[in-house]
Order: sequence, then C-alpha cells, then structure tokens
Amino acid sequence: MTIIPKFFPLKMVNYILKCVIVYDSNVGNNDNIIECEVVIIRLTKRQEQIIKIVEEHGPIIGEDIADLLGVVRATLRPDFALLTKAGLLKARPRVGYYLASKKIPSQTAETVKGMKVADWKSAPVVVEENVTVYDAIVNLFLNDVGTLYIISEGGILEGVVSRKDLLKIVLGQADIHKIPINVIMTRMPNVVTVTADDSLWEAAKKLVDHEIDSLPVVQPIFHNGREGLEVIGRITKSNITKAFVELGVD
Ligand code: ADP
Repeated sequence: MTIIPKFFPLKMVNYILKCVIVYDSNVGNNDNIIECEVVIIRLTKRQEQIIKIVEEHGPIIGEDIADLLGVVRATLRPDFALLTKAGLLKARPRVGYYLASKKIPSQTAETVKGMKVADWKSAPVVVEENVTVYDAIVNLFLNDVGTLYIISEGGILEGVVSRKDLLKIVLGQADIHKIPINVIMTRMPNVVTVTADDSLWEAAKKLVDHEIDSLPVVQPIFHNGREGLEVIGRITKSNITKAFVELGVD
C-alpha cells in the first residue's frame, strides 16, 4: 500500500486542495485507487499577500516580493515552496514569480516579436502594369527575385506576379511579347501586405498562412485623388531565414 499526497491548484486563490491518494502499489497503476482523501488548506495571510503581489506586479523576483512585505527573502522560502508546489505560482530563473494561470511570453517570443520588418526588408522590384510578360520575366532574372510587384502610374500597388504565374503563361503558349503583365497578376485587394512597423514574426506568419513566398512592404499613398499603397520594400522567405540565422549566433 502506498500513500501519495498530491496538491492540486484550485480556482479559488486562497485555498489549496490537498488530495491524498492511496492505491495498491503491487498493481502498479493508478486504476487501483483504494481511497482518496481531500483536504482543503486555507492559505495564510502572508501567502494570500504574495499571490496578490504577484497578481499585480508579476513577473516579480522573490527579493522584491520580500521587500514589499517588509521581510527578508529567506522568510518567504516555505511560502514560495508551497505556492509553487500547489501550482498557484510559477517561477522562472531571471524572470521571477508569476501566476500559474497567466501566460507570460517566453524570452524567445519577446525577442522574435521585437524584430521589425523595417530592419529586415529588402528593396522591392516593381514593374509597371502595362509591361509585357516577356519584359517582366527579363526583369525577374535581372533583379534575381522570385516575385514582382506591379504598380500603376504614381507608384500605386496593383498586384503581384510570382515565378509560377509566369511559368504558367509561358507553358500556355500565349504570346508573351504582347500580353501585359496585369492580365496574369494577383490583383488588389487580394495582395497580402505588411508595413515597416509590423514585426518580422507577423510577416513570417502571413507567409506561412497564405502559402506565399513574398510580401510587399507598403505605406499609404495618395495620387491624383486616389488612395492606395506604395511599395517601399519586400519581405521574402530569404529575409526570414537570414533573421533566423542571426538569432542563432552566439
Ligand atoms: P510561386 O507561385 O512561384 O510558388 P508564391 O507561392 O509566392 O510563388 O505565389 C503563389 C500565388 O500567390 C501566385 O499566384 C502569386 O501571384 C500569389 N501571391 C504571391 N505573393 C502574394 C501576396 N503577397 N499576396 C497575395 N498573393 C500573392
């Protein structure tokens, strides 16, 4: 016979549910519970204060909690042990204590989300909407890119054309010297874009969600009474890969 005391956090913040499970150890699995005793322990005043402080200031380190309570850190050791064991508080090195019910962003997430499109974008390659498919292909090769952004007069974004869009039209044996690029482009408002202020993570997520290779970086523009988007850069899978490589540098 084995007795296993287990703690479970309760929704009520000032109680801990202590559950003592007795099961037959010879059988070796938890299906053989013989007895289960539930004890409710009331938190001490100080433990309640700790929870309140962490709720308001978390993540917060033990020393700062001790300062706020006017005691030394060592005095609180048993309280921290109980509250973390009970699953009410969580502790992370160099971060401190936080409520177990609250999700705090990991350091990686914070770093990644702090990377801005503005710092990682490349120069965009744009062509005017009336150039031929042939000229667009030449442009693609000369600029060594996989996607072209199509603009109208005044630099307003009208669409995008990818490598496969161009391959498709070539395979269809159309006269690529005559067909203007805007016939085959994916056009606004279906073009997925980002702004320079967006995080690189948001850009990467859009690339993944929309299964595309490139995003024009845009800003609002007003031309001849028409509102539109001006292309000021591009984010491609290569930019994301470079950022990823940089993140791994010691
Ligand atoms: P490829 O077609 O060469 O694999 P993509 O995956 O980027 O390149 O493009 C897939 C399709 O999505 C193409 O038809 C293309 O016109 C379109 N597309 C590419 N980029 C975007 C974008 N930013 N927003 C909307 N559509 C896009």
